[in-house]
Amino acid sequence: MSFSDFDFSPAVMAGVRGQGYAAPTPIQTQAIPPALEGRDLMGLAQTGTGKTAAFALPILQRLSAGPRGTVRALVLAPTRELAEQIRSNFAALGQHTGLRAISVYGGVSAHAQAHGLRGRCEIVVACPGRLLDHMGQGNFDAKSVEVLVLDEADQMFDMGFLPSIRKILAKLPPRRQTMLFSATMPAELKGLAHECLKDPVTVSVAHAEPLASVAHALYPVVEHLKTPLLLELIRRAGSESILVFTKTKHRAKRVAQKVKDAGWSATDLQGNLSQNRRKAAMDGFRSGKIHVLVATDIAARGIDVSQITHVINYDIPDTPEAYTHRIGRTGRAAKSGDAYTLVTGQDEDMIRVIERKMGRAIERRTVEGFDYRAAPAPGAAPMRPAGHGGRGGHSHGGQSHGGQSRPAPADPASPRGGARPYWRQRRRPR
Ligand code: AMP
Repeated sequence: MSFSDFDFSPAVMAGVRGQGYAAPTPIQTQAIPPALEGRDLMGLAQTGTGKTAAFALPILQRLSAGPRGTVRALVLAPTRELAEQIRSNFAALGQHTGLRAISVYGGVSAHAQAHGLRGRCEIVVACPGRLLDHMGQGNFDAKSVEVLVLDEADQMFDMGFLPSIRKILAKLPPRRQTMLFSATMPAELKGLAHECLKDPVTVSVAHAEPLASVAHALYPVVEHLKTPLLLELIRRAGSESILVFTKTKHRAKRVAQKVKDAGWSATDLQGNLSQNRRKAAMDGFRSGKIHVLVATDIAARGIDVSQITHVINYDIPDTPEAYTHRIGRTGRAAKSGDAYTLVTGQDEDMIRVIERKMGRAIERRTVEGFDYRAAPAPGAAPMRPAGHGGRGGHSHGGQSHGGQSRPAPADPASPRGGARPYWRQRRRPR
C-alpha cells in the first residue's frame, strides 16, 4: 500500500512527502481508510508505530474542506510533552494546508493560550485539566468540534484524567467522529470507549508487545552499584542518545547529576521541573546536545526522539505496560535499539511478569571487567532502593553474555549476603 492509495489532497500529500514518509505504517494502513470515512475508531497501538499521523492525516484531509478559524478538531493527550509533539506533527504534516494547530497544557501561562484559543485555529491539542480551566473561563467553545481524539487513553486513565475527560465529553457535540488510541485496554477504559465511541472500527498493531526491533537485556546488580554500572553501560554504548528511566523524580535528578559529574552531557526530565526547563531538556536531547536524558515515566511519556539508541531502566518499571512504553522510546519507526534493565534481588517478581507478558526470557548479562564486589563509595549518600513491593531474594539462573565474564562470586552487599551473588543463587522451589 502507498500513501497515494488514500486519495489525500495535494496539500496533505505534500506534507507526507515533506516528512519523507515512503509508505504507510501498519497502523496507518488500517486506520486511515475508516478514519477518512468518518468512522469512529479504537486504535490499539503504542507510540512509535506512526499512530499520530494515522489520526492527523485524516483530520487534516477532513478540515481542508469546510470553515476556517473555528476549532473543529480536539486531541486530548496525557502530558505536555506529548501534546507539544502532536501539535508539531500537525504543523509539519499540515504545513501546506493553511490549517493551524495550537497546544494547551498546564505549567505555563494560561493567558497566551486563551489568546490562541480565541484566535484563528482549527486544531487544539490539549491536556484535559488545563482545557477544562479554559472551558470554565469561556475561552474555549466546544460546540464546533467535529473530531475528537483521545490519545494514550490508558495513560490519561492512569493519571486520573477520567473525570476531566467525562466533563469535556459532556460539552462536545454528540454528532462527531471520535478516535481513541491506547497501548493497552484495561477494563475501566473499555467502559469509557463504550460510552464515547459509536460502532467503532477496531485497529490493532503490536498489541502491547515490546517492539521486535529492540534487543532486551537484564543487568543484575546490587543497589549501591547501580550508578557505577550505569556509567559503565553508557561508556560502552558510546552512543549519542541514551534515555535512562528512574522510578522517582528525586532519583532522576540525582542520577542525572552523577552522569554529569562523570563527564557526560546529561540532564533530568521530571515533573518537578518548570515547563521551560522540561522543554530545554527535550530540545537539548532532540538536537543531540544532551547525550543522556534521565527521566521518570510520566515526563517521558510519548517522547519521540528518533535517534534514541539505548533505553536503560535504572529502576525496573512497575508494570509490563510501563516496560513496553519505556522500551518503545527506542527502536522507533523500524530502527533497532537496545533496552537494558538494571535489576536487583527485589525485582524478581516483576521480571517474571514482564517475561511472561513477552512470552520469553530476557537475557541476563554481566559486564566484563566491572567490579561487582566494590563497596559503596566512602561518604557517598546511599541511593535508597526504589521499593516496589517485590518479595525479593530469589532469581532465575543467569547466563553470561558472550565474551563477558561472570561477576565476582562473593557479594557482601547481596540482599542475602551469601557467597554467591543473588542472581546466581538457587531458585527457591515453588
Ligand atoms: P508516533 O507513533 O506517531 O509517535 O510516530 C513515531 C515516529 O514514526 C515519528 O517520528 C513519525 O514521524 C514516524 N513516522 C510516522 N509515520 C511514518 C511513516 N509512514 N514512515 C516513516 N516514519 C513514520
